[in-house]
Amino acid sequence: MTARLVLASLNPHKITELARILAGGKVGVELAGLGEFPGAPEVAETGATFAENALLKAESAAQFTGLPSVADDSGFCVDALNGMPGVLSARWSGKHGDDEANLQLLLGQLADTPDDRRGAHFTCAAALVLPSGRQHVSEAAVHGRMIRLPRGENGFGYDPVFVPDRSELTTAEMTAEAKDAISHRGRALRALAPVIAALLG
Ligand code: IMP
Repeated sequence: MTARLVLASLNPHKITELARILAGGKVGVELAGLGEFPGAPEVAETGATFAENALLKAESAAQFTGLPSVADDSGFCVDALNGMPGVLSARWSGKHGDDEANLQLLLGQLADTPDDRRGAHFTCAAALVLPSGRQHVSEAAVHGRMIRLPRGENGFGYDPVFVPDRSELTTAEMTAEAKDAISHRGRALRALAPVIAALLG
């Protein structure tokens, strides 16, 4: 029988992305989004780190569903702000999920920061938690710099102002496939795939 794995997210893009990565890694599990489990509690992201938040979400889903669960947590870390917005990325302007307001606030804060001090990275922690309590976290980052004027229509969040190292394009100018290949989320989830295969496959 194929093992079931819950992705502790209601975001259909994340579910599609994880399904694609697991299929690429030939991991034979049946993936279910948290939306398939009515009444699953919403988890406040109160952790101080991406790993803590990913574990909070995966632990809650594993406990509620009784199934192995995966969750991720990610954000944008700016050198000149000592790593902020970090875990506050989604609510940097005070309003959760307002990508445009978050981006504009950050651009304003960096207005006087010279080009050679505009280093930044995206980080993602991906956590697997089994109903037994066993857990594994993988973390990955993509490094680059923050530009001054947003460019590109793809992606979301801070993508229009982030140019990865060895690239001329912002991550909002890349195709989904090109971004997945180098992205923090793609790499953290791909690193988790063999662990999922070993424990469940
Ligand atoms: P979450 O992991 O879905 O909670 O995302 C946290 C926040 O980090 C998002 O709302 C975005 O602001 C930012 N973020 C995370 N990953 C990316 C990315 O790949 N591109 C742009 N912004 C991102």
